[in-house]
Amino acid sequence: MAVRIKMKNPLVELDGDEMTRVLWQMIKEMLLESYLDLKTEYYDLGLKNREKTADQVTYDAAAAIKKHQVGVKCATITPNAARVEEYNLREMYKSPNGTIRAILDGTVFRKPILVRNIKPLVKTWIKPITIARHAYGDLYKDVEMRIAGAGKAELIFTAENGDIQKEVIHNFAGPGVLLGMHNLDQSIADFVRTCFNYALEQKQNLWFAAKDTISKKYDHRFKDIFAEIFAAEYAEKFAVQGIEYFYTLIDDAVARLMRSTGGMVLACKNYDGDVISDLVASAFGSLAMMTSVLVSPQGEYLYEAAHGTVQRHYYRHLKGEETSTNAMATIFAWSGALRKRGELDGLLELVDFAACLEKAARQTVEDGYLTKDLAEITEPPVQGAVNTIEFLEEVRARLDRSLAD
Ligand code: NAP
Ligand code: MG
Repeated sequence: MAVRIKMKNPLVELDGDEMTRVLWQMIKEMLLESYLDLKTEYYDLGLKNREKTADQVTYDAAAAIKKHQVGVKCATITPNAARVEEYNLREMYKSPNGTIRAILDGTVFRKPILVRNIKPLVKTWIKPITIARHAYGDLYKDVEMRIAGAGKAELIFTAENGDIQKEVIHNFAGPGVLLGMHNLDQSIADFVRTCFNYALEQKQNLWFAAKDTISKKYDHRFKDIFAEIFAAEYAEKFAVQGIEYFYTLIDDAVARLMRSTGGMVLACKNYDGDVISDLVASAFGSLAMMTSVLVSPQGEYLYEAAHGTVQRHYYRHLKGEETSTNAMATIFAWSGALRKRGELDGLLELVDFAACLEKAARQTVEDGYLTKDLAEITEPPVQGAVNTIEFLEEVRARLDRSLAD
């Protein structure tokens, strides 16, 4: 076998929970450690260790990503009441993803892994569609009211110097509902730059869609910030790469999306991104084939799978039963992080290794070695699914062959 690839700088490794924690270890042992001198700074975000450190480990991991710029994360449990009991937690810790996203101030880009034998439900989609969702404000930080009866609702802003801006929202003749929401120029600008940088890196067109014809100040502000930053900082870089940025109305964007061949990044406001990312994910086949990367405006990257900890499979695994858990998205989290590390450190071998790993994983699926979730949706249909380990063994065999070339 060829020499093991040496790394210069570490990846920040965030371990997690349940079945994905099991997969995590297998992927490292079977697909990474025999080929690489894997250098990671390890943080155990498994719920037991979050409890032990009163969640400090999540904050430490986020700080480490700020320091080293590239991280890879295993799926983690977001505690709810049942988990508080199951793990005997002192408190219902917040979602690690939420905590890290708030610290890095990042945008999440979700992109499907395409293989020949799984056809998207939308026939024309032959290239992946990436959804970038603005993760701050709007409906997710709103204030709502139920109005009991007749009266006047007003929108009032009091500036620090006492100046007042006032608009009548509605003169209610009877009961109804009311909501106030906001966003920040700074947060929008950070989102915009992250989207432009991502599109440049992927060499893909960027679309941004909102509803400025109806929302003439709010959505229009998003559109304007996109346009201003594009003209001032990105127009030339896009021209050099031969890619485009364009704005369109959200209803036009979804209509175009359905008729497109894919291959673009669609930037969405918070709510639109929530809805459209799930629509696109399910049309591409499976959550286990969806990758996710958090990118901060400072250029920090955290790669992960879009799915959760696959709890039901884990309970079967604990009982000693066989599982057929799809490792694709977790493998691609590792390959994404290794590629980015290689690019930042100028390590071509590492970039090449990431490409070989992805190719081997894709080939495994295309050769018909499918976990149960995919066996059900593949064309042509296959008889019998492989188990978790058999799948990884097939990937390893193809990786060996591809590295030997
Ligand atoms: P999930 O772990 O994504 O699993 C939901 C179902 O989807 C599974 O039961 C399984 O279906 C199928 N599935 C998902 N990933 C799969 C894979 N890799 N291979 C095969 N099948 C797969 O979602 P959940 O059960 O709602 O959540 C479990 C835990 O994950 C929760 O504690 C939640 O907080 C956490 N979570 C974490 C993240 C994250 O860290 N980013 C994201 C979401 C959820 P079948 O059982 O029918 O086979
Ligand atoms: Mg959602």
